[in-house]
Amino acid sequence: MTKKQFQAESKRLLEMMINSIYTHREIFLRELISNASDAIDKIYYKTLSDDQLTFNKEDYFIKITPDKAARTLTISDTGIGMTEEELENNLGIIAKSGSLAFKKENEAQDGHNIIGQFGVGFYAAFMVADEVTVITRALGSDQAYRWYSDGADGYTIEPADKATVGTDIVLTIKENTEDDQYDEYLEEYRLRAIIKKYSDFIRYPIKMDITSS
Ligand code: ADP
Ligand code: MG
Repeated sequence: MTKKQFQAESKRLLEMMINSIYTHREIFLRELISNASDAIDKIYYKTLSDDQLTFNKEDYFIKITPDKAARTLTISDTGIGMTEEELENNLGIIAKSGSLAFKKENEAQDGHNIIGQFGVGFYAAFMVADEVTVITRALGSDQAYRWYSDGADGYTIEPADKATVGTDIVLTIKENTEDDQYDEYLEEYRLRAIIKKYSDFIRYPIKMDITSS
């Protein structure tokens, strides 16, 4: 399995996230939940245009699973999933249109607040996690894939097992340091508060599973 480098722009954004000075770290969850919701939207629109598929509302949801013992926070969705190629294209390269250019422009005026409002995307995960694993199976595919990155120097993709279509994003939450607290992102009450603050408008149920391995 060969390790690939992120594209230059992705690398810069990633570094910015990893070394984040932002007070709004908590928005990583908003970003991952909004991606999960987008993925469910995509499967929903597919079912509208394909008579072979039906959309059963109760099958579509987002699930948040903190596991204190394992120090992981998992964001799962029953959305459309990603093929191997999509994993490569979507998580290895940051869309040019996106946040980086915007960030650069506004940095001088308002370097702190902007991130709270603007969508920064998937890489926001690295503000709170030192490892991110994505396990995903695309609609119409029997094969799942695992994308893994510890940030700094690239990512790997390999075949994986996943019983159902959709995506699990597994964050290994950073250890607390003298200056920075991360334990809170494994606390149910804190996660509920963040979800309420930023993701109240999400159209699909957001469930919480408490695990202790
Ligand atoms: P944006 O959401 O603005 O496109 P992101 O950085 O948040 O940018 O996500 C990049 C891309 O990765 C998404 O456009 C989508 O194609 C893919 N992606 C991210 N999370 C998921 C997910 N949970 N399920 C399916 N695709 C996803
Ligand atoms: Mg997004």
